[in-house]
Amino acid sequence: MLYETLALAYEEIEKTSGTLEKTRVFSELLEKANPSEIDKIIALTIAKLHPDWTGEPEIGIAEKMAVQVVAAAASVRESVVKKKLREIGDIGAVAEFLLEEGAQASLFAEDLTVQLVYDTLDAISKITGSGSSKDKTAKLVGLLSDSSPLEAKYILRTITGQLRLGLGYMGVMDSLSLAYTGSREARSIIEKAFNVCSDLAAVALILATEGIDATNAIKTAVGRPIRMMAAKKLSDSTEIIEKAGPEVLVEYKYDGERVQAHKNGDNVVLFSRRQEVITEQYPDVGELVRAQIKAETCVLEGECVAIDLETGRSRPFQELMRRRRKTSIDEMRETVPVAVYFFDILYYEGKDVTHLPMRKRRELLEKTVLRNKRVSLTEGEFTSDPERLDDIFTNALDAGHEGVIAKAVHENSSYQAGSRSWLWIKLKASYQEGMADSVDLVVVGAFFGRGKRTGVYGAILASVYDEDTDTFPAVCKIGTGFTDDMLNEFKERLDEHKLEAKSPKVVSDMEAEVWFEPEEVIEVLGDEITISPTHPAGKDQIREGGLAIRFPRFTGRWRDDKDARQATSVHELVELFDQQRSRGQET
Ligand code: ATP
Repeated sequence: MLYETLALAYEEIEKTSGTLEKTRVFSELLEKANPSEIDKIIALTIAKLHPDWTGEPEIGIAEKMAVQVVAAAASVRESVVKKKLREIGDIGAVAEFLLEEGAQASLFAEDLTVQLVYDTLDAISKITGSGSSKDKTAKLVGLLSDSSPLEAKYILRTITGQLRLGLGYMGVMDSLSLAYTGSREARSIIEKAFNVCSDLAAVALILATEGIDATNAIKTAVGRPIRMMAAKKLSDSTEIIEKAGPEVLVEYKYDGERVQAHKNGDNVVLFSRRQEVITEQYPDVGELVRAQIKAETCVLEGECVAIDLETGRSRPFQELMRRRRKTSIDEMRETVPVAVYFFDILYYEGKDVTHLPMRKRRELLEKTVLRNKRVSLTEGEFTSDPERLDDIFTNALDAGHEGVIAKAVHENSSYQAGSRSWLWIKLKASYQEGMADSVDLVVVGAFFGRGKRTGVYGAILASVYDEDTDTFPAVCKIGTGFTDDMLNEFKERLDEHKLEAKSPKVVSDMEAEVWFEPEEVIEVLGDEITISPTHPAGKDQIREGGLAIRFPRFTGRWRDDKDARQATSVHELVELFDQQRSRGQET
């Protein structure tokens, strides 16, 4: 397929409003493609040349380099590109405009195919070492010299992660379903396949070349991360039992980092919540899995927690995060010793066991994990009594944990990869007061500090994630509760993602003084969720307006374990707002 065909489809999708229509346009594009190139089309469209867990480098070009590339390709000064960028706020459109204006002769240009664009970007992403930015820039300029202005626009947006088609992963899966089965109904099969193998491009290729039955047959495998199951939240034990009961397994909620351990003989790979390989960060956990797990092949999930070796008590999450600093991991394993508490098993001796009910999986887990001081199972108890649940919750807090997670154990309590359902419900201390819980927000903008805060940012603008449109609508401005250290860290971390203008993915009526690429996720506590005249989050779903977080404050916790798309979603925010409303009506 010519890249131009893909670019024209992107343009039409962008102009089309409504998810249904967008997916129809994209599915028609997919139908035109040769089945063998579907994986490349999907990879370019989700702007991920390879899934994170493969460890392959990604294209992610910073805006600064993109500006240099456009300037060189259009033969103008960088200041001209920057000025235009501030005006129209989208590097893709700037490239299109300047290349059109320059009307550079592309008579000898090579016809760009999807395959060629993919291969070139892949090759560029793999350039490393000294002088790599020069080489990358040169190769990108070469690619642009073969592109039409329209193609350049979409190439630029792809490499800067700003392809805002408004499709999101769900829209892409809908389109795949429509293109290859003639209806949207097979979306759930495609989604399930994606959840168990975490590689949408590979799923699409199987669907296009082998059909829906082969897609349905995609199974969990050792070495390929399974998208993690998540928990909903409630603040009342009776409600929890009603939703997940009659009987539930109430487990302590440990405050650490979730790991998915894949064991194949002596080979152990650890995946993070965002499906990055973190084996090197936790060499000790790898050793513990090798020594203490009685299975040749298996996939286990657990929480990795920093501990005090003498008392065995957990240490704060911030301690554990010191492990994230890649330097001197050998020293870290001594200074930040960890324990791992396993709570689930997804694969055992060559077989997928995610379909087993929770009770069965727990039994299997009991048999598989040889416990010692550093490896054990999460503390848990079966009960159908709300009062007992409250007691366990109190015990959990006394023992220094965050709260509990109640897990359904009935016949249908399978492990639901990639979903947040009522099968797992968390109850934390913070729910009993004010807003039902902290939320995880993406930092999208900032305001300069004044007075004592000159030189750092005095306030930041934060967003939730809208899965339907793949955008980041703003939900609050946070300006209080910062320590000096926090302010310095904000400056240091955020400046890496600084943009000339608002990212096209960010939706905000409030004008920040500095804009960032939506990358960094922080934990925020607020008093409540309110209807807002200013912020757009949830506007389509709430009659009275958008939603905002009232009196928001940063808890000090950077959610490095989450990527921007794993931040609190608009749907979750609306759900929290509804829960808050019904609580208000009760009192
Ligand atoms: P939170 O901020 O409350 O951790 P979250 O959005 O990060 O929420 P959820 O999936 O909603 O994550 O909550 C479950 C998380 O709690 C898991 O990802 C895991 O890291 C952690 N956890 C701690 N103890 C347990 C346990 N016993 N069972 C399952 N998950 C646990």
